[in-house]
Amino acid sequence: MGTVKLTTTERLLQREEYVRCRTLLHAWDDIPVTEPHADGPSMWLRCVRCTTQRHDVFDAYTGELLHRIYLYPDDYSLAGDEYVPTRAEFRLRLFDLAQTLHDRRQRRNGGKLAS
Ligand SMILES: [Zn+2]
Repeated sequence: MGTVKLTTTERLLQREEYVRCRTLLHAWDDIPVTEPHADGPSMWLRCVRCTTQRHDVFDAYTGELLHRIYLYPDDYSLAGDEYVPTRAEFRLRLFDLAQTLHDRRQRRNGGKLAS
């Protein structure tokens, strides 16, 4: 029996935390900088939902941003020929996921009442 190979886009759409971040943007928290940068002071952030990290390096005198890199978890970033859903499509997917969760809770509560 062959297994269906999902595209990265499909895998992303199954991860509720990824869909939330694509819809609402990341929920950043600052984390310790473990590798100082020669160009200036750094600020490292990590998303509390999806674990994406953002590493920023600033000019020590002006405070202006010099570099920014993102480190994404598996299946979060879409590249090359992958279909990239729009923000509106991610929002609809989030409503779907919320409804699925609601239905599952309803069914569980229904089961309890019946027994
Ligand atoms: Zn995130």
